[in-house]
This record gives sequence, C-alpha cells and structure tokens, in this order.
Amino acid sequence: MSLIRVKDRDFKRSITAEQIAERIQAIAAQIVEKFKDKDPLFLVVLNGSFVFAADLLRQVNISCGVSFLKMSSYEGMSSTGAIKQLIGLNEDIAGRNVVIVEDIIDTGYTMQHLYQTLQDKNPASLSIVTLLVKPDSLRVDLHIDYSCFHIPNDFIVGYGLDYDGYGRNLPEIYTVVAEG
Ligand code: 5GP
Ligand code: MG
Repeated sequence: MSLIRVKDRDFKRSITAEQIAERIQAIAAQIVEKFKDKDPLFLVVLNGSFVFAADLLRQVNISCGVSFLKMSSYEGMSSTGAIKQLIGLNEDIAGRNVVIVEDIIDTGYTMQHLYQTLQDKNPASLSIVTLLVKPDSLRVDLHIDYSCFHIPNDFIVGYGLDYDGYGRNLPEIYTVVAEG
C-alpha cells in the first residue's frame, strides 16, 4: 500500500497513473467517434479538472474548441445544497455541441446547476464527461454521458483534486485514511 501525507492527513493510493491512462484512452476514443464531425466545444470546469482535461483532450485529436469556466466558491445554502454561480464563460455556446469536462461528481448539485445554466444558453447538444463519480452520494437525476471511474464515498486527492489547496500535482489518485 502506497501511503503519502498531504498537509495534516494520510492518504493511500487508490487509482494508479496506469489505470487512469487506460480509462482516458477508452473514453477519448468514444468521444472522438461521437463528435468527430460535430465541431464540439469542450468546457473545462476549473480548478480540479485541469489535469484530467489536459490528458483527455490531447487524445481527442479532432477539430474542437476548448474553453474554461469556474463555479464560484460562494456558497449560499438552500434546501438543495450549496448554490454556486457560473463565472468566466466568454464563448457564445448557442448552437454548439458542448461537452462539460469535470473532475468529480459527488452529490451532483454543482453539475446539475451548471448543466441547467448552460442549457438555458441553447447549445445544440450538451454532454457530460467526468473523471470520477461517487454514485452512493449522487442526489440528483443526472445523465452522465462519460465517466472514467465510480468510486466510494471517501475523500480523494491528486490528479488535479486538492485537499485544502494541496495535492493537485500528485500524478495518481489517493484516498484519505481514517484517523485514529
Ligand atoms: P457536488 O456538487 O457534486 O457535491 O460537488 C462537486 C465538487 O465537490 C467537486 O467539483 C469537488 O470540488 C468537490 N469534491 C467532492 N468530492 C471530493 C473529493 O473526494 N475530493 C476533492 N478534492 N473534492 C471533492
Ligand atoms: Mg469540479
């Protein structure tokens, strides 16, 4: 078992670089097949997706646009959870075949809100690709077109995802080790 320390917590390796590369290759092939003649626009959700998007999109060797957006970290609580606002999208997505590139879907509230916000801008189609899904945590009805891994409800770090700002540069994915 490969153990590391990020800030003040221990993590153990749960998905290797080799496993990640293998899944990305498979997903990229599906995306190429589906979108090769569709002039897609990939919208990468910062910050956590930057590593995944870099690896995925370098294998999506078709004509496409790539842009970036962010869901603000402001969290006003409502009955349905944290409400985040879309910021940084400069493209006109009307009539485009848009593919959202996300790092992880946990409860799904963030993605549901983003999906609806983008849908209101009238894209020709709207699809979701995510590196990770926590199916047991999912609280909304969401059609996830492409996902690389389904994982348990434990906190993970690495490959773009952070623990309090640290660990994004780890090349593999690590799961927190319970304390005590
Ligand atoms: P959701 O709205 O789906 O519950 O939350 C999605 C967001 O929660 C992700 O974009 C990510 O920022 C954060 N998140 C959820 N689970 C994890 C995790 O295990 N590790 C990290 N680093 N972030 C997570
Ligand atoms: Mg994210």
